Amino acid sequence: MSLSGHCHCGAVSYQVNGEPRRMARCHCNACRRTTGTGHLVQAFFKRADVKIAGKTASHQSTSDTGNTRTRHFCPTCGSRLFSGNSNAPDGIGIAVGSFDDSSWFKPEVIVYEDCRPAWDPIDQGIKTRKAP
Ligand SMILES: [Zn+2]
Ligand SMILES: [Zn+2]
Repeated sequence: MSLSGHCHCGAVSYQVNGEPRRMARCHCNACRRTTGTGHLVQAFFKRADVKIAGKTASHQSTSDTGNTRTRHFCPTCGSRLFSGNSNAPDGIGIAVGSFDDSSWFKPEVIVYEDCRPAWDPIDQGIKTRKAP
């Protein structure tokens, strides 16, 4: 699969050549806060399959399972773009709304379903997991 995307202002863009290893929707506190919505949807790729042009700013925090999460965003327009996890240093999560075409995306799992606000409904056919 060959994919491309960029932030809202265009200062940061990327190209992907590879298949997603995982596609997920997350309702955890960090995903709700950092997106300002009910959830974040991400596709996870091998880091080596993703080429990034432009500089991101980042913020790190510790996940509930003790891993370091790094969230990368455009320093100009603030668009959330990439995520890294110390648990999987060879991987990268990409915020699905930033792809030029995201019609291929289908979440395989909804995580932190117990943190989901009632106003953010889910497709009942998708498997869910609660907070660890
Ligand atoms: Zn931008
Ligand atoms: Zn999350």
